[in-house]
Amino acid sequence: MSVNFQIVQTPEWILYNCPNCGEEHEWHYEDFLKYYNLNSDELWDIATTIEVECQDCGFNFTLSGYEMD
Ligand SMILES: [Zn+2]
Repeated sequence: MSVNFQIVQTPEWILYNCPNCGEEHEWHYEDFLKYYNLNSDELWDIATTIEVECQDCGFNFTLSGYEMD
């Protein structure tokens, strides 16, 4: 008898670039959730949009959609 198994990927990093200054932002997954007061379900929900601010230039923009590396 055989069963399927799951491979659990631990999310570790959140990466995105500021659309204004191009600076790359790299967050520890947990830090990102805490900083923006999100839970994992919200983050993984493709319908969630996340308002963020660039720490380099102060530009506000929205994260919508993600891809897995
Ligand atoms: Zn910026």
